Amino acid sequence: MSLAESIDELLPQTQCTRCGYDGCAPYAAAIASHRTEINRCPPGGETTIDALAALLSRQRLPLDPDCGVTTSAVVAVIDESRCIGCTKCLPPCPVDAIVGAARRMHTVLNDLCTGCELCIAPCPVDCITLVPRAQLGRPSPEPSANANRQRFHAHNTRIERLAAERAALLDVKKRAARPA
Ligand code: SF4
Ligand code: SF4
Ligand code: SF4
Repeated sequence: MSLAESIDELLPQTQCTRCGYDGCAPYAAAIASHRTEINRCPPGGETTIDALAALLSRQRLPLDPDCGVTTSAVVAVIDESRCIGCTKCLPPCPVDAIVGAARRMHTVLNDLCTGCELCIAPCPVDCITLVPRAQLGRPSPEPSANANRQRFHAHNTRIERLAAERAALLDVKKRAARPA
C-alpha cells in the first residue's frame, strides 16, 4: 500500500471537499507529497488529525478554520412537499444516498447519508436541509468510512458506465445519420 493509500485509509470518505481538494484521495495524495497540512478535514476533526500525525510523525495541528468546523453528525432531509423531482441532487451524492425518479418525489436514505452537503446547492427549490442525526425519528449510526468508500467507488463505476453507454449511443446515431 502506498503512503497516499495509507493516509486515505484514515480519512472519513465523505468526499465533501471541505479540505479544498476534490475528495479524500486527492487530499491524501497532497499530504503524502507534502503539498498540504494534516489539519484540513472537518468531518474527521481531531481524531483524524491525531491519526495522521501518528502515521506521518508530524506535529499535531489544530483544525484549519478556513476549512470549517467539526459538528455533530448531520443528515440531509428533503421536504418532499416542495420537491419537484428534477433529479439534480442525484449525481452530486457521492454515496448514492438519494432515491427518486424524474418528476417524482425524492428522499434521502438516512443510513447512507454522510452529511457531506453536496446535494444542497444543486437543488433549485432549496428543499434540502441538514438536521442532526440524533434528531431523526429513527436515529441510526453514521455510516463507516469503509462503507462510504465502497459506495463512492460503486457511484463512480456507475457514472463511468453511463457515460460510456451514452457515448456509444451517440456514435451509433452519428453513423446512422451519415449518408450511405
Ligand atoms: S472527508 Fe475530509 S478529506 Fe474527505 S473530502 Fe471531506 S474534508 Fe476532504
Ligand atoms: S444525501 Fe446529500 S448530504 Fe447526504 S451523502 Fe448524499 S449528497 Fe451528501
Ligand atoms: S434537487 Fe431538490 S427539487 Fe430536485 S429532485 Fe432533488 S430534492 Fe427534489
